[in-house]
Amino acid sequence: MKITKVKTRLYQWTGPVKTEDTIFATPLSPLPFQDDSQAPFRFVTWLAVEIETNDGVTGIGNAGLAPDITKQIIDNKLTGLLIGENPLNTEYLYEKMYRSTVAYGRKGVALAAISALDIALWDIKGKAMNQPVFMLMGGRTKEAIQTYYSRLYVRDLDKLQKEAETFKNQGFKAMKMRCGYPLREGLAGMKKNVEMIKVVRETIGEDIDLMIEAYMGFDLPYAKRFLKMLEPFNIRWVEELLLPDDIYGFAELRQHTDIPISGGEHEFTRFGFNDLLKAKALDIFQFDTNRVGGFTEAQKICAMALPNGIEVIPHGGQMHNLHVVMSSFACPMAEYFPKTEIEVGNEIFWYMFDGEAVAEDGLLQLDDAKPGVGLTLKTEGLENFNIIE
Ligand code: MG
Repeated sequence: MKITKVKTRLYQWTGPVKTEDTIFATPLSPLPFQDDSQAPFRFVTWLAVEIETNDGVTGIGNAGLAPDITKQIIDNKLTGLLIGENPLNTEYLYEKMYRSTVAYGRKGVALAAISALDIALWDIKGKAMNQPVFMLMGGRTKEAIQTYYSRLYVRDLDKLQKEAETFKNQGFKAMKMRCGYPLREGLAGMKKNVEMIKVVRETIGEDIDLMIEAYMGFDLPYAKRFLKMLEPFNIRWVEELLLPDDIYGFAELRQHTDIPISGGEHEFTRFGFNDLLKAKALDIFQFDTNRVGGFTEAQKICAMALPNGIEVIPHGGQMHNLHVVMSSFACPMAEYFPKTEIEVGNEIFWYMFDGEAVAEDGLLQLDDAKPGVGLTLKTEGLENFNIIE
């Protein structure tokens, strides 16, 4: 089996984007966003990658991190390394791509590019062996995947309450909400963040896990003070309180609180996670398989996490992460972004691909009979995309 072609396409969303009420408590964003240029963390373009082989099997991968630049790295730097290679040699091909980009890569878009290709290679492997990817990585470790509902991007307390209520009634046993008030609003903003959390906790009761997302928006002194205020609310974790490079800040937070500290959706490779591990920086690792180095690296990080008592709960739902969750005892649950109007960017996946698993009663199932990753690119209903080859 040989790789004959690598094809990349940008899916640029040109349809409506919901911006009203959407919140991220970053130090840079005026609230609410006044226009899209002030929304630094909105992703409305996605990259699809297809790897073709001489025996007719095609693998599909994807990247959501700076997809336009990721595409250039694949087209100009990585495709040439793969043509003519056996796609089943995933370990070797990962290493070949990693070492060939290491001078300028190591983290960020170079790893997003490698991840997209690695996911496509594993898709080929699954299809060639007629097995879903999770079966190749360790098989089932759970009957179904427990998910947590991830949205609640709203500051208005009535809307927040209604949304939490809706998803409680749909059977989700865990939910993640966002902080609505940024660092610069100081103690007054901190109290408003706590008020939002109080409203959601009161709405969902004590038997549903509640998680708080800070999206890298705070600093160490704020985070310490904020965590103290969260103690009465039985929080399952607080996510990305600090910038991803502030490893020692995270480690200090863990000394300061009993609330689990999570992060890692902006960290890359086994080396990045080894640093987090050695610094005792996090209780929960949240890599995204389409950033961290694909299935090849995700598997290694799960293996590192297990004996160290660290949970792995990947960023983003999406099939590439669900196969990891299904196949590892390190992963107690998965994130779930429901299909909604386009708001932040994670939703685009639903409009590009067929085959994404849909949660019922908060649970997801993967199909034993569907080989590979289980996704196909949609061929209809693409009117709202500008697709760029
Ligand atoms: Mg996050």
